[in-house]
Amino acid sequence: MNLVIFGPPGAGKGTQSAKLVKEFNLFQLSTGDLLRDEVSKKNEFGNKIDEILKSGELVSDEIINNLIENKISNPQYKNQIIFDGFPRNLEQAKSLDNLLKKYNQEISLVINLKVDNRILVKRITCRVTCSLCSKTFNTFFDPPKTCELKGCEQRKLNKRSDDNETTIVKRLKTYDEKTFPVLDYYQKKGIMKNIDGMQEISAISEQLFTLIQGIRS
Ligand code: ADP
Ligand code: ADP
Repeated sequence: MNLVIFGPPGAGKGTQSAKLVKEFNLFQLSTGDLLRDEVSKKNEFGNKIDEILKSGELVSDEIINNLIENKISNPQYKNQIIFDGFPRNLEQAKSLDNLLKKYNQEISLVINLKVDNRILVKRITCRVTCSLCSKTFNTFFDPPKTCELKGCEQRKLNKRSDDNETTIVKRLKTYDEKTFPVLDYYQKKGIMKNIDGMQEISAISEQLFTLIQGIRS
């Protein structure tokens, strides 16, 4: 069972993916995380990507498809992937279908998290990540007090360089223009479900778990 978790920046894709990974033993494939790994290498390629991330535009489909094929082709992850932040335009959605076909797989469900723009801006500007356990918190909605892992009392909280008000406006615009139309593509295939992403984190997880259990049984 491969899933796509879909929604605008700050909708809660990463937060919910982490819960699904635990509950269903899945592998989270976040193209944003893969790109940030490249940025952290601080080489020429990484610096080029960093510039694009800070601009709020999309990285080229070629770069993304290479990163993705590396994972889809790995037998360890076969039929166990949550695609988080991918596909982000129609071309990527079509490439994903072709790649999955090549490796004898398919997408079972696309979950769309719906959240108002006003809330998204607050979620993104207040997003922080623990550098010790990588868990994402929110200084406004979900203050970092519940970190379960030992040692995280002295956690260092990181903020993403693209989580600032200027880049967010651009990221939301990019979402509306390039990414939102992908929903229609999945709607027509009959595999898309909407979830109200404005609920509490735990309420959303419960709905997700029920949906997924439904398609597994
Ligand atoms: P995305 O991966 O879609 O960009 P994240 O999962 O990183 O979104 O969530 C964005 C921010 O909003 C994080 O700081 C996270 O803690 C917070 N958040 C996620 N889901 C909720 C929710 N349902 N209610 C309140 N805050 C949330
Ligand atoms: P969010 O969902 O919070 O916007 P991501 O971590 O998914 O954050 O993405 C951060 C940035 O990485 C995007 O603004 C974009 O520049 C780039 N990116 C991530 N995934 C893709 C993708 N599939 N195609 C093109 N660019 C991407």
